Amino acid sequence: MKKLLGCLFAIIILVINVIPCFAASPTLSVSSNDYTVSVGDTITVSVSLSADSKLNALTFDIKFNTEEFEYVAGSASGGSLFDSEFINVVGAGVIRCDCVSNDIVSRGGTVVSLKLKSVKNGGKVSVSAVTATDENNAIVRVSGSSINLSCNHARMVWEPKTAATCTKAGTETGTCPCGYTTTRETEKKPHTYTSSTIKKPASCTETGIEVGTCTVCGASGAESKIPAKGHDYSEWVVKQPATADTVGIKERFCRNCGDTKNQTIPALIQGITPEEPSSEEESSSTETTTEFEPIDTPEPSTNDYLDEIETESTTQPNGIFNNAVGSDIAIIAVIALAVLVVLVLVLYIVLIIRQKKK
Ligand SMILES: [Zn+2]
Ligand SMILES: [Zn+2]
Ligand SMILES: [Zn+2]
Repeated sequence: MKKLLGCLFAIIILVINVIPCFAASPTLSVSSNDYTVSVGDTITVSVSLSADSKLNALTFDIKFNTEEFEYVAGSASGGSLFDSEFINVVGAGVIRCDCVSNDIVSRGGTVVSLKLKSVKNGGKVSVSAVTATDENNAIVRVSGSSINLSCNHARMVWEPKTAATCTKAGTETGTCPCGYTTTRETEKKPHTYTSSTIKKPASCTETGIEVGTCTVCGASGAESKIPAKGHDYSEWVVKQPATADTVGIKERFCRNCGDTKNQTIPALIQGITPEEPSSEEESSSTETTTEFEPIDTPEPSTNDYLDEIETESTTQPNGIFNNAVGSDIAIIAVIALAVLVVLVLVLYIVLIIRQKKK
């Protein structure tokens, strides 16, 4: 039992000592400010050292395919990690960085940054250590990493494939210089409403509804109102003629909907046939039943009637009543004139007789 406990203790001590060795293993990693590019874009690729890396010298290579990227410029991190850093192009697509430090301290963070220009819509950039020594000047292993940048297809060229209609979306095909192709839908065309269908016809008094119809696909569009037509009345027709003491009735009707309107005709008195009043005192209804006021007024005397005619005649357009009254006045005037002439003659004769007697 004691032996077993002793073995377990030994294993625990071993694990505790070994784990930090693995944890402290330095790593170089490469990253980019943008992972999608197009031809002509310039990206910034950074190489970083894992935290707490105890090194005093490090040489590493940044590699890329010159068909994919072109080296523009490189910059060190300014001596914050190592005392001196040197960046050199040592081959096609190989940038070598030499970093040396006098003091042995824990380091970590960005070591160098490179500007690379895209030549072929993306590609691969990798970093790997060439040599590395620790604080004991012993060679240590430093692992590297790589990144892949893809084309962002920003330079797609689109060509129509199928035409859009008012019922169906069209399609177009895009081709990227990197060789990528895709198809996308294009918007439907708007309907062409040039003919319309009457949904509800307009009547004399009510508005109708019409619906636009697409001439291409026959689809119905928005509804619009048709204005009411208004009544189309016939001429007045005497339904019941007026007599000397009773009013008559005249009627007219709408030629479209049959709506009728009634109007009274004034009673005839002493052979004078009054014309229609100009203002329509219509007893109208949309039904065929008609209403009118019964005459309950007593038969007017001649003077009353003449007075009435004089007031009403101002509204008459043809002046018939004025003429009738005017002729009466003329007769009276002639009679008065004749009487006056006779009186003058009598006076004249009397004067002559008196003179002869003298
Ligand atoms: Zn592309
Ligand atoms: Zn249509
Ligand atoms: Zn009508």
